Amino acid sequence: MNELELVERLRKMSGKDRRSGVVRGIGDDCAVFRPKANEDLLLKTDQLIEGVHFSRTMPPERIGERALARALSDIAAAGGDPRCCLVALAVPRTKADKWVLSFFRGLLRLAARTGTVLAGGDLAHDNKTHCSVMAVGAVRRGKALTRAGARPGDQLCVSGRLGKPWDQRIEPRLALGRELAGHATACIDLSDGLSLDLHRLCKESRVVAKIERIPIVRGASLERALHGGEDYELLFTLPASGKPPTGTTRIGKIVRGTAGTVWFEGKKLAPRGYNHFT
Ligand SMILES: [Mg+2]
Repeated sequence: MNELELVERLRKMSGKDRRSGVVRGIGDDCAVFRPKANEDLLLKTDQLIEGVHFSRTMPPERIGERALARALSDIAAAGGDPRCCLVALAVPRTKADKWVLSFFRGLLRLAARTGTVLAGGDLAHDNKTHCSVMAVGAVRRGKALTRAGARPGDQLCVSGRLGKPWDQRIEPRLALGRELAGHATACIDLSDGLSLDLHRLCKESRVVAKIERIPIVRGASLERALHGGEDYELLFTLPASGKPPTGTTRIGKIVRGTAGTVWFEGKKLAPRGYNHFT
């Protein structure tokens, strides 16, 4: 299959969803996206690199699904609805078209399930497999959740349980994110570990967090739940009077102090999660 034929196959696989706002998708120089008048757009880009974010042995469907899921997890953290995505993929020449089609089959299965249209992208060859997904989401104007709104007195909550194995399937918490928009004061998705992501949220909100308890995945260590990345749960703050939604747990509270500090078991918790540059 040459590149043209491959793109044509992807165009047929990608489907259409009028509600997405994509007026023109694959097959043109640019995709055309028409936002609604009462919306703010959410823009996110995320990379997936062989040897860094996935191993050579992971099946291509899983890699494709994971590439989109990571970007959608950030749309969820902002309380938005995914609308479309652009995917740039480079693979070694030794990889057959079958690999590329399987990658997109996995990605498009999650896209269809979440109302995300594949609106375009780019294919290339390189020595190593790497992929970059740009996701576009939308949220009611002025209602996007950010890391910056937590206030002293707020409750600190998390969805699910922490300490998942690193290559576990990601289920972006989109429904929860939508539920939290307009209620939560701040939100972040846990991609790099509780200690680091909570530090980031506290830093942006200029507050301090006190962790009182942590819901841990059966069989996982406390160390992994605190510092391991790849949980893809939502960490958020609610006003003291708010009720944490079903499937979420109150794990502590927000207090005043030096911005970014996190307390756990009477000690300061160092932000030791995943960091690409250390
Ligand atoms: Mg994130």
